[in-house]
Order: sequence, then structure tokens, then C-alpha cells
Amino acid sequence: MLRVGGLTPLSTTDWPGMLAAVVFCQGCPWRCGYCHNPDLIPARGENEIPWEDVIAFLRRRQGLLDGVVFSGGEPTAQAGLLDAMREVRALGFKIGLHTGGMYPQRLAAVLPLVDWVGIDVKAPFADYPRVTGVAGSGERAHAGLLEVVASGVAHEVRTTVHPALLADADVVGLAHELAARGVKHYVIQAFRSQGCGNASLCQNATRERPLQDVGGELAGLFGKFSVRA
Ligand code: SF4
Repeated sequence: MLRVGGLTPLSTTDWPGMLAAVVFCQGCPWRCGYCHNPDLIPARGENEIPWEDVIAFLRRRQGLLDGVVFSGGEPTAQAGLLDAMREVRALGFKIGLHTGGMYPQRLAAVLPLVDWVGIDVKAPFADYPRVTGVAGSGERAHAGLLEVVASGVAHEVRTTVHPALLADADVVGLAHELAARGVKHYVIQAFRSQGCGNASLCQNATRERPLQDVGGELAGLFGKFSVRA
């Protein structure tokens, strides 16, 4: 059974262009300082929603929603994700997935059921532990990204930029790395302090150069590129 830490009944932003419910999966192996959902990091949550209740809710929304986004935490951390997606697909919903790509094999197994992926790439792959706090995380994320690109599933790669974690030169270098790996749709987004429990990151988030200016150097690398406010 999928462990679910939260449910948003209707979102227009988590899957661009789609009306979707968002299922927040409980548990994540990484410890990003800027995490906006720290309550979803532990393997077990205090306010878990039984999977049967999620399915009952979705039955009532059949015909009213385009799809369901599995978000987190990290959805691919759970072995129950594949069956959960099968069940949701059988109800007639399209499937979206938010992932950090850290379980490449499980990611590859679910991709045939997925219509769209939003994959976070957090830093140049060699620098991942600076953001995630976990050794070896960059290698896993890199493998996950390659699975998504190779699958042909529609996807958006996005990077959250905090000036204390990613210098502008890191962002530019990462964008070139991603373009070289075949990424066609890339979004950079500025760090937001809402929901972040790390006081130091919240207090030191002022940028010297607008992120839009950095983005101006990157637009030509991708078929689709944006700087998200
Ligand atoms: S990978 Fe996502 S859910 Fe996990 S700690 Fe980082 S920001 Fe939070």
C-alpha cells in the first residue's frame, strides 16, 4: 500500500495545463535544506491518509479531473507506487510524476504508466551532496534523468536556485550539462522561503543578479525554457 502524507483535491499548477489532484507520497531519503515539505521526509507520517480513502476520493472525481500527480516526498521511494499508478490509471486518469530521480530502476519500471514527469535536478551532478546532504546522490539523480530522457515521456526538468547553494556559474554549467544529455524543456525557479524550515537559507536568499538575467544566457540551449517566479 502506498503511504500517502497528503492530498490536494485540485491543482492547476502541479502539472502545467492539466486539472489534477496531487497525491503526496510519504518518505524521502534526501535532506535538502530548502525542502518545502519536511513533514513528508520521514518514512511514516503523523497524518497519513489510507490509500483506500485516496481511491474513494478519486472515484468521486472521475470525469472531473484530467489526471493525478504523484508527488512527495519521493514517490519512487515506495515499492507500492507501481500498483498505485495502475489502480489510478484503471479509473481513467492520466498520471503525472514529480521525482528527484534517485531510484532509477523503480523510475524506469513506472515510466510506461506515466504521461508526464516533472524531474528536479538540484545541482551539477558532482555537487549534489551540497544540496541533498547525501553522498552518492548525484550519481543516482543522473541515472534517473537518463531514464526519463530515454523513455520519451513528456517531461519538464527544473532546478531550484538558492544563491548559497548554486552560484550563477553552476546554473549555467548545469544547463549546458542538461542540454548535452538531451533535455528539451528546462525551468529554473528561485528559492522560496515558504515552508522551508532552514533559517540560514531563508535569511541568505538575496540574489545579487536577477535570475531572469541568468536565464537570458540559457534560453537558446532548450526547445522550451523559462524562469519561474
Ligand atoms: S528531494 Fe524533495 S522531498 Fe526530498 S528532501 Fe529534497 S526537496 Fe524535500
